[in-house]
Amino acid sequence: MMQLIEKLKRKRSLDIEEYQRLIDERDEETASVLAAEAKKICDEIYGDEVYTRGLIEISNICKNDCYYCGIRRSNRNCVRYRLSRDEILECAAEGYELGFRTFVLQGGEDPFFTDQVLEDIIGQMKSSYPDCAVTLSLGERPDESYRRLRRAGADRYLLRHETADREHYRKLHPEPMSFDIRMKCLHSLKDAGYQVGCGFMVGSPYQTSLTLAKDLKFIEEFSPDMCGIGPFIPHRDTQFRNEPAGTCELTCFLLSIIRLIKPNILLPSTTALGTVDPAGREKGILAGANVVMPNLSPVSVRKKYELYDNKICTGEESAQCRGCLEDRMNIIGRRLSVDRGDIKTAEVKYDR
Ligand code: SAH
Repeated sequence: MMQLIEKLKRKRSLDIEEYQRLIDERDEETASVLAAEAKKICDEIYGDEVYTRGLIEISNICKNDCYYCGIRRSNRNCVRYRLSRDEILECAAEGYELGFRTFVLQGGEDPFFTDQVLEDIIGQMKSSYPDCAVTLSLGERPDESYRRLRRAGADRYLLRHETADREHYRKLHPEPMSFDIRMKCLHSLKDAGYQVGCGFMVGSPYQTSLTLAKDLKFIEEFSPDMCGIGPFIPHRDTQFRNEPAGTCELTCFLLSIIRLIKPNILLPSTTALGTVDPAGREKGILAGANVVMPNLSPVSVRKKYELYDNKICTGEESAQCRGCLEDRMNIIGRRLSVDRGDIKTAEVKYDR
């Protein structure tokens, strides 16, 4: 195991079988060595600053029917909402006051948000706050749409690949969704000039150490600017309601590996991680993550953006959410950063 870790540090790459072995044969000692290495290199690049992004959940209306997701189209129990342009801009104004310099607009694939509607919102945000980055996380769109929104000023796009294994993808998504379209979207986003984030759930149904190894290889090859990973958590109104949740332990282990593959990558410690373990977000940071994404959505809709059961932070105001995370980060010796939080591209030492 120590040899694998040495190789990973030296080459920033392992074979798929080696990633698989690292996962299958992991133990506490391997995890703590990996976490220490990941944290060390993250500190060298990012210091004690944790980047923050203000998350605005703009709609839970979705035309897709992903088997794992609480806001899937066929969930009749989901009470739907959509924020208006003005509500979104109000969330951003409040976030700006609180020190956020990146706003993430996330939502289901809601046909109401046409290119025109989004161009207007993005344009307004960029002109009010030229010092801020706007990130979109609105799922699959045509090539031309990605380009238009980029021209309107969007800087970054998060689109989790969900799994890098075609058969596994099929078990998580019904037709007409497809692995090929997902991958094509990710490449289009890069071509359109976004800083791109991919990612996956840890412990999703039918996931194996081999599919995870393929996720790691995909990250190595695609070389995203960001990677969002968090545990899968079942939602009561989905067919995966009785499946076990992913663990904090495995998520942290994978965060460390990803940090060692891509030392500069932006790696959030997610709300889902904080949901499976009360200290999950702190543990994620200590395993090599360097981003947190507190919620800026109006409290009135928070409970409705329920991708999985028992999601945390659905009752607090934005300021409380930020304050709570700030305290949590300070306790582990980190500071919340007040800047856009772009990826640092400074050369890191690769001892080949
Ligand atoms: N519609 C957008 C945003 C999706 S929500 C898109 O397609 O990108 C953001 C992420 O939440 C998803 O990519 C998925 O990985 C995660 N998610 C959905 N359901 C989940 C669940 N039950 N447990 C954990 N994460 C989940």
